Amino acid sequence: MILILTPNIEPESNRYKQLMAHLARLQDIQLRVHREQGAEQTLTEIYLIGHTSSIPLEEMKGLPGVERVVRVSEEYRVLGRHRDDHRPSHFDYQGLRFGQDTLHVFAGLCAVDTREHVDLMMKALRDLGQVCTRMGAYKPRTSPYSFQGHGKNCLSYVFELAGKYGIKVIAMEVTHESHIDEIHEALSRTGDPTGVMLQIGTRNTQNFELLKIVGRQKQFPVLLKRGFGITLTESLHAAEYLASEGNHKVIFGLRGIKTNMGDPHRNFVDFAHVPVVKRLTRMPVCVDPSHAVGSRTRGPEGILDLLHATAQGVIAGANMILVDFHPASNRALVDGPQALLLEELPHFLADVQIAREAFEKRTALAARYAPELQTAVA
Ligand code: PEP
Ligand code: MN
Repeated sequence: MILILTPNIEPESNRYKQLMAHLARLQDIQLRVHREQGAEQTLTEIYLIGHTSSIPLEEMKGLPGVERVVRVSEEYRVLGRHRDDHRPSHFDYQGLRFGQDTLHVFAGLCAVDTREHVDLMMKALRDLGQVCTRMGAYKPRTSPYSFQGHGKNCLSYVFELAGKYGIKVIAMEVTHESHIDEIHEALSRTGDPTGVMLQIGTRNTQNFELLKIVGRQKQFPVLLKRGFGITLTESLHAAEYLASEGNHKVIFGLRGIKTNMGDPHRNFVDFAHVPVVKRLTRMPVCVDPSHAVGSRTRGPEGILDLLHATAQGVIAGANMILVDFHPASNRALVDGPQALLLEELPHFLADVQIAREAFEKRTALAARYAPELQTAVA
């Protein structure tokens, strides 16, 4: 059960103290308080954990400071959608809104290799009005002999260049807690020129200790990739680990799953699950067509499979696209064969725009034919 308190309630206020005193008397119920400092107000939610089914909803609604009460089903308590649940399905970061109703493109380098390539990439993004990117510094590789990423050594120039080109958010994978400290230090050292979205890759989706650590920090939002060899339910539970530790700014990333049924793509494209994740949870959903498709093959009409997959995700309502680009993909140290070229960025963005407009038209059509079936996305 979740008690949503009146906005801006002060922990020192009488109402709050009375409420907490009452809740403390509930038998075998644990309390977890979550406070979220938004741009305009502070929201407080109290999670009641234990056998809450015998607690009457009306009694809780009548307590001082309580605005609303949500009875949650067992699954995905924090991030899930529950009956009569009007909690938001968006968050703000770096002046941008990330929600189930928005769309952001994170085009960039799978792995940072040279300063020059970062510069060229970010300049191309800036020239096309983009404010987000992906930059891999810590690369989890199948072989220990493959390039592992420049790690902390590249962070200063990546962040400085982001500042120079007006990039507001960089999606960057971390594989160890020390990476969060290194990112933190490099941002401070360079004067906080940009923001970072911590990415948890498919190989770490169920690295529960890493999830807990990343969930305990609230400075950076998190992009959690679906595990490539586990069920969707298991991956959604992994996202809940982040939220249960306190970080609710979580985006769920689809990136294809491992099975040879998807051949000849690198992974089986699972973007039909975009609306499923949006229905089950309040998380914005990202699609990663690069790691799903894994090549630059194209259909007979001349459209790259990668663009087709992107469009499939966007037309189904995806909120974020994580996509590999490289100024000289034949020299990329990681995943060159699936990278798009900078010259292809205008085409890519225009194609995304078509798919997004089609999604908006489809949503309007659905509202016309079956308005009572629409779930408010706020
Ligand atoms: C990546 O985005 O660079 C990456 C390694 O993705 P995934 O974890 O989905 O393989
Ligand atoms: Mn990659």
